[in-house]
Formats: sequence, C-alpha cells, structure tokens
Amino acid sequence: MTDCVFCKIIAGQIPGSLVYEDQEVAAFRDINPQAPLHVLIVPRRHIATLNDLTEADDAVVGSMFRAAAALAKRHGYADRGYRTVFNTNREAGQTVFHIHLHLLGGRTLGWPPG
Ligand code: 5GP
Ligand code: ZN
Repeated sequence: MTDCVFCKIIAGQIPGSLVYEDQEVAAFRDINPQAPLHVLIVPRRHIATLNDLTEADDAVVGSMFRAAAALAKRHGYADRGYRTVFNTNREAGQTVFHIHLHLLGGRTLGWPPG
C-alpha cells in the first residue's frame, strides 16, 4: 500500500526507530506515546483491520504477540505487567488502517479503558 504510513515506516521510507524486526513483523515506537514504553508491532504485509484476517494470518498474529512479550521482557516489564491492544474501526479509535498491536508498559494502566 503506497499511501500507508506504517508500510512506509517498514520500508524505511520514513525514518522510524525500528526496535524489532523479523521476516514477518516489525516494531517501532509510537509517535505519541501513552506510556513510558509504547511500541507498535505490525505485520510487514498490509492488513487493514482485524476484520480482514484469514486463517493464513494466524502465524503472523502469533509472531506479533511473541514480539510484544519479548519487547516487554527486554524493557523489564514482564513481571511488573504491560498491556497489548488492537483497536478496530471507529468506536475503538483505530486511526491507522494497517493492523498494529499496541504494547504499553511502565506505568499502572487503568481498567476499563476509556
Ligand atoms: P490506533 O488509534 O489506530 O490504534 O493507533 C495508531 C497509533 O499510531 C497512534 O497511537 C499514533 O500515535 C501512532 N502513529 C500515527 N502515525 C504515526 C507515525 O507516523 N509514526 C509513528 N511512530 N506512530 C504513528
Ligand atoms: Zn500498510
């Protein structure tokens, strides 16, 4: 997708601080962090929303969660705790239509979310 900001970051067209990369997944810091650690984990392949997932995406979604857990551990939040969130469409506040797993850590996170 040529007009997708996350595809551009993954492709290196926008200088983004990639904090994790493998064959299927990449991760970078959120531009507007909501916690001391706020990383977005994305599939390299453009998928607009969770509604577009198919069985063929099961492995990449698993890789996204494993990358999130590894990053949380790397930052020392594995035991303290952290949150992983996918927002889907309008009422959940999705603003970038390339699926991304938010990883939030480093502070006490309220529940329920706003
Ligand atoms: P959503 O609301 O779709 O779940 O989350 C989109 C996230 O992407 C927001 O937290 C927003 O701050 C972040 N974001 C939007 N544009 C950019 C960008 O160009 N670079 C980075 N690093 N994050 C972005
Ligand atoms: Zn994209």
